Amino acid sequence: LRSGVEQLGEMIAEASAIVPFTGAGISTESGIPDFRSPGGLWTRNRPIPFDEFVANPDARDESWRRRFAMEPTFAAARPGRGHRALASLYKAGKIPAIVTQNIDNLHQMSGFAADHVVELHGNTTYARCIGCGRAYELPWVRQRFDTTGAAPDCADCEEPVKTATISFGQAMPEDAMRRATELAQQCDLFLAIGSSLVVWPAAGFPLLAKNNGARLVIINNEPTEQDDIADLVIRHDIGETLGPFVGN
Ligand code: NAD
Repeated sequence: LRSGVEQLGEMIAEASAIVPFTGAGISTESGIPDFRSPGGLWTRNRPIPFDEFVANPDARDESWRRRFAMEPTFAAARPGRGHRALASLYKAGKIPAIVTQNIDNLHQMSGFAADHVVELHGNTTYARCIGCGRAYELPWVRQRFDTTGAAPDCADCEEPVKTATISFGQAMPEDAMRRATELAQQCDLFLAIGSSLVVWPAAGFPLLAKNNGARLVIINNEPTEQDDIADLVIRHDIGETLGPFVGN
């Protein structure tokens, strides 16, 4: 590990535009389970695809019940060493913006300006109408759910209200995809952190960065789909690996 962290330190020192690309693994230290590890969310619940959410009121109720059940976990989560190390590099001017598959808001909480967090899969800390896009706070949804016993519709257009996340089968957010593409093309160091790199199109970004001349580092405690093309693979805990970069 020591030599991995040393090599990473050298690469960070030499880089002028670092783009981190984070997955659920950076937030397990904060108490939010990832999807695919043993005990991960998918071993417990089958994801509800977007079409099913739209078509089926029972699926909407179930989706919101699951979200409410997770609320104590999300509400208690604080940035871990990985988030804080990246925030330090951002404040030092090394990171123009971060691309994340996470929906937990922890990069913003660690000190990134909201404008500089490119969220590929949205954000679960608030809700949106799937028709007109109006934003809602979660306590509003909760209150309506508890009063009526059902998932609420939009007060304006009466379409369903959903967490502001991207479900399977839902269109990717165009602006986030465009910005992530530009960042991957323009950086000189791309850090893929805590992602199994299996969900497309998100998993295409490390490859894109590499093909555009960036160095690629993968930090993950198990093998990923793209280890073969990386310049450096650190197969270790993220908090321990990035801890030395907190506050630098
Ligand atoms: P994933 O679950 O597929 O992969 C996470 C990877 O991180 C795994 O390979 C795991 O071994 C590794 N990992 C976990 N803890 C680690 C640690 N402490 N140190 C090093 N490695 C660690 O997650 P993904 O690739 O992000 O894709 C799943 C999708 O699920 C994402 O698109 C995201 O939208 C969603 N998701 C988000 C959150 C969140 O916001 N925190 C949590 C669960 C799922």
